[in-house]
Amino acid sequence: MSYLVLARKYRPQTFESVIGQEHVTQTLTNSILSKRVAHAILFTGPRGTGKTTIARILAKAMNCAENKKGPVSTPCNLCRSCREITKGNATDVFEIDGASNNSVDQVRELRENIKYMPAQSSYKIYIIDEVHMLSTAAFNALLKTLEEPPPHVMFMFATTEPHKIPITILSRCQRHDLRRISLTSVSNHMASLCALEKTEIANESLEMIAREGGGSLRDSLSLLDQIISCSEGAITHEEILNILGIIDRKIIFEISGAIIQGEISEILNIIDEIYSKGHDLKKLYYDLTEHFRNLLILKMGGNTIHLVDVPGNEIDLMQIQVKEISETFLHQILNLMFKDEVVIKHSTQPRLSLEMTFIKMFRVKPALSMDLLIEKIDALRKDVDPSNKLLKTPDNNNQNRTAAQTKIQNTLSETRGSYVPIQPDNHTDVSKPDESHTYEKEPENTSMNNFETPDQAWEQIFKIISKKHPSLAAFMEETAVKSLTGNTVELNITGNSFQVDMIKRKKNIDLLTGICSEFFGKSIELKINTIVQDNVNNNDNGKLESEAINHPLVEDTIEIFNGKIIDIKTL
Ligand SMILES: [Zn+2]
Repeated sequence: MSYLVLARKYRPQTFESVIGQEHVTQTLTNSILSKRVAHAILFTGPRGTGKTTIARILAKAMNCAENKKGPVSTPCNLCRSCREITKGNATDVFEIDGASNNSVDQVRELRENIKYMPAQSSYKIYIIDEVHMLSTAAFNALLKTLEEPPPHVMFMFATTEPHKIPITILSRCQRHDLRRISLTSVSNHMASLCALEKTEIANESLEMIAREGGGSLRDSLSLLDQIISCSEGAITHEEILNILGIIDRKIIFEISGAIIQGEISEILNIIDEIYSKGHDLKKLYYDLTEHFRNLLILKMGGNTIHLVDVPGNEIDLMQIQVKEISETFLHQILNLMFKDEVVIKHSTQPRLSLEMTFIKMFRVKPALSMDLLIEKIDALRKDVDPSNKLLKTPDNNNQNRTAAQTKIQNTLSETRGSYVPIQPDNHTDVSKPDESHTYEKEPENTSMNNFETPDQAWEQIFKIISKKHPSLAAFMEETAVKSLTGNTVELNITGNSFQVDMIKRKKNIDLLTGICSEFFGKSIELKINTIVQDNVNNNDNGKLESEAINHPLVEDTIEIFNGKIIDIKTL
């Protein structure tokens, strides 16, 4: 008995059994129920996602003989019309391949044919696949029919490239866009087919097949066909890797891990192994690019996890990988990979090109994030500057401090600046843990009116910023207060775009709002005006270099570590 491929054997025969296109099948079901089915329908979407399958189900639904009064939302699949459509020999349903029937003569013939009533069913239905392949003349001939369609005729077009269809045709069709099917949907569907076929394949392997299928159910199923036909009974993951000649996902994690750890020899060994097994190195490169793209999306956080179409266990592994690296590092790696993509694509020696790219990657050091750097430098400065020690927030271990110590600290603080409050000396009970806050807390009654000019208030606020967040203050040297009114502090931020961007980061705005609110003893709203002063005369590299040299972080680093600049590299 001949083997019937899975895609045909299990082709969905009702809207409910179509995988991953509920948004289309539900709309069609609704339009059938409300008797508002369009006479020309266009199905678009990637290959193997169900365009012609849905068109055939719709054809059945329109012509099913089960209901004498008209179309049904679920075809019976038993009547003559349904059975004929399943077999592909229905008298009133014409499946035309647009790629090979694309001439104007063929469309004219079709127009002649349309005039006659359907032989047995309610509708004469034309399903034109790859409709974008029609010639311009053929489209024009078709247009006449679409403008005044006979009531007994329906057109269903399918295409992967809707942008190639003339707008005059598009505007006369009801369009349904099919989606790439998610990896999980494809692998779940294959798992159910394996159960029906009594074939044992691990989920991990099915996920890998689905990934190779690239969101196309048909492609995934033909890979599954290939595997089933090559083996009997339970099939191991290793066997599947061999049959399909694909690279194990573990390798992608091993290489990316080695890039993150900077272990270049490990990467070169892996490439050697993959190369000697005869795998496609270009494919490896694309998989790796996608992997780093996914890592970046996970690193960015927020509600983006649905954009990473990989199995749950891989997401967990990726979360571990991204913990160790910064967003900047991922950006740099991806930039490099995109830059070298063309080189690798056209290289006659992909192995050599790949090695060169990885060696370049090795030079991208996993940079710490800017926020983390700033925190570290602030911590360093506080440690280095002894005068800051007493202004540190008392930590919880410090509860044994005596009132006397507190008093000394108050006195010391008092001499350091008028904005440091003196705590009322009523904590004489030594047995109680002292919880008074002697650090930079502002007097409750600081009012906006207490200052002759807004600048005076700003001067004091700026001192607090300088002490608490020296790096932020470094960006704000040019910042001035514009006005203090009610609960609003309006600031004019001046600086280059980098400085302005840094100050305007949400984290910094929150810090500033907190400091101002504490200073004035009420909830303050910040209003920010920005004045960007970029030096536009320099060329890009020169500008980058001067920005790098003058960057406050670089200055801080040089100062703290007593270093000097040896070289500046543009990445
Ligand atoms: Zn039927």
